This record gives sequence, structure tokens and C-alpha cells, in this order.
Amino acid sequence: MGAPLATAAALGRSRTGRKAVKGVLLALALAVAVVLTPLIAIPFAVAGSATTVAVSDAQAGPVAVGEWGYPLKGSYSTGRGFGWHPVNNCAFCPKDHLGYDMDQPCGATVYAAGPGRVINAGPMPGWGNTVRIDHGGELVTLYGHMAWDSLRVIVGQQVTAGTPLGDEGSTGKSTGCHLHFEVQKSGTAIDPEPFMAALGLPLR
Ligand SMILES: [Zn+2]
Repeated sequence: MGAPLATAAALGRSRTGRKAVKGVLLALALAVAVVLTPLIAIPFAVAGSATTVAVSDAQAGPVAVGEWGYPLKGSYSTGRGFGWHPVNNCAFCPKDHLGYDMDQPCGATVYAAGPGRVINAGPMPGWGNTVRIDHGGELVTLYGHMAWDSLRVIVGQQVTAGTPLGDEGSTGKSTGCHLHFEVQKSGTAIDPEPFMAALGLPLR
């Protein structure tokens, strides 16, 4: 270090020398800035991309409030509600409707409405290709009429709200593509509308 310092000191004694020293110091400052900028910027860039991922994850599934969410993503039209709803010109359709029908185009993804364990993933009489989820406390949700070979869960699997279950279809006693969403308490079907409304997820 002695020689360069001596050189700098020698240069510092002349006007052109001082200019040269200033130039060297400026160059050094620029070099330090070039090296440090990525080190400072990278953590911000990483933090930025992590935020973006979280946002896109939140947008991937249906609207949720706490641990529960809608079984379909986005808007849907409604079919038969819960209770006495005979279907014109359909001899095989049950007149007393045990679920809530939600319509999106054939093939739309059906999602778990809440956390629990899959207790059925396959054909059930009347309901066609069906997933049932046990949420504990003798509460079960059922997703009926899904397309054959579309199920993405298996019996015993743990799911949360927004887990894709399969594709909307028209299997079983159905006259067109729709989701038959059913809620059962202690083995008896209950009206999904007040049930979901109480969770902050009103069905329209
Ligand atoms: Zn139905």
C-alpha cells in the first residue's frame, strides 16, 4: 500500500495530479456502485416475485371466506334449489331436491367447499360420478353429476377449500351439465343456501 499512497500523494501535489486522483476515486466509486447494486436489488426482486406468486395463488381458486369457499370459481347460474322442485318431463328426476344446483359450462372445475377428508370418489346411484367430503362433526358435503374419468381426488385424501375435485358433468339422474351441491348433517340433507350464507358465502 505504501507505493500507491506515495504515488497518490505525489500526484496530489500537482493540479493535473489532483484531477487524476479525483478520476481514480470516481472510477472506484462507480465500480463499487456497479458491484453493490445487484446485491441490494436482488432481495427486492425476490420479495417482489414471492408477492406475485401469493396473489396468483389466491386468484387460482374460487372465492373463500376463512376455511370455506364456493364449489365453483366465478359466476354461475342456479338451477333447482333445495326442497320440492319437480322437473317437467323428467320421470327419473327426484321431485324432492336434496341439494342446490349450480350451472357452469360442461367441464368446469368443481372445488371442495371446505376442509375435510374424501369419503367417496366415484359412482353413486342417482348422483352419478360423485365426491363426498367428511368435514367432521357429522357434516358432509356432496358434489354430484361430475364427468366420468374427471375426478382428481381419491378416498382418504385430505382436502381444503379450493382443492379441485373433478369436472362438472351430467352423470347420474341429470338432464344437463350442472353441479349438484349437497350438504348433509348427521346423514340428513340440509338446505345449502342458509348453510353457506352463515359462512359468509351466499349462493345466488
Ligand atoms: Zn341437484
